Amino acid sequence: MSIVQFKPYVKVFLNEEIKKATLSRVWEDNFEGIVYDMNDLGIFILKKIESLCEEIVLRQEISENFPNDIEEADEIINFLKTENYIEIISSDYYKPDYLEKDFGRIIPLLSIFETDSINRYKIQENIMNKKIGVIGSGTMGFSVISKLVSNGIKNFVLIDNDIVEKSNLTRQPLFSLKHINKLKVEVVKQHIEDRIEDSDVLAINKYVTKIEDLSILKDVDLIINCADDIKTSLIEKYIFENNIPTFFGGGYIGHVGRIDPLVIPGFTKCFSCNEKKLKDEFDDIGTPLKNHYKESTISSMSDFISSVLSFEVLKFLANPEKSLLLDKFLFVNFSDYSIKEIKPNNHFPTDCSICNSNSLIV
Ligand SMILES: [Zn+2]
Repeated sequence: MSIVQFKPYVKVFLNEEIKKATLSRVWEDNFEGIVYDMNDLGIFILKKIESLCEEIVLRQEISENFPNDIEEADEIINFLKTENYIEIISSDYYKPDYLEKDFGRIIPLLSIFETDSINRYKIQENIMNKKIGVIGSGTMGFSVISKLVSNGIKNFVLIDNDIVEKSNLTRQPLFSLKHINKLKVEVVKQHIEDRIEDSDVLAINKYVTKIEDLSILKDVDLIINCADDIKTSLIEKYIFENNIPTFFGGGYIGHVGRIDPLVIPGFTKCFSCNEKKLKDEFDDIGTPLKNHYKESTISSMSDFISSVLSFEVLKFLANPEKSLLLDKFLFVNFSDYSIKEIKPNNHFPTDCSICNSNSLIV
């Protein structure tokens, strides 16, 4: 038995009077949707799909009501399917009960990452089996991790050497008074264990000063750098040597934030090349003068940066082709909620020893 149905989040508006239908997909069509002229056959098909019709019944009823239009009906159904408006769910569709029970409210969104060979339940299962290395368990690291845990990720390696101070509570709502003076990695580890069953968290209290300190990350599937005081040159050397995709995190001052690129050895340029080109994007306006106020921000901004970053992590784990941050920076301005994308990938230097350590890069 196969059921024909609209894919998750697909919106269909039908105006039978003027014979037009507006179809909208969550990923492709933003808020707008695409308007299609409809004939009686098209209207019939859309209404049958709305009623969760069995595929065999749909085809029977088409042949009874539109005997001369079987070919056109096939074209319409194929079009709806290839354009990701509908899906045909067969009885052997992979949908384990344990996933549906615990994650059924978030799995539908994964349909935007599906391919012919992997459905949303399998994607969820794959994501849950990944191991993520996070450098830094402060404001950004904790925020990103908390969102990943909500999505079912439970295997982590955490590195940080800092303790929670009272001032951290102004930027990280997940820290509380009882955490003051405790190691951040231990607080984050406890949070993960309190939030998800069967977690596996290795929490390392260490200040990274040399490349060997990163060797505990050798078997992770992905690294997220959320530390603001560790040399990125150290991290990028390690990840190119060990072929580990890495998100370089981001930063924020006041109401302005930045989300840094996803670096995939053998596929993108290294972080330093990206950053060097980013500097070239801006005019040389002189040397910055010292401002004696402490650089500050608020939890809304750090949480926003972390939210984007954690969703990009999910996208990468679900389907790397959907990644947005390849050789790309995003700048966020909270004064008007604008987001500016900068992709400084033209004319990258070709003499970079890190980039050239992998011959796949073009
Ligand atoms: Zn490079």
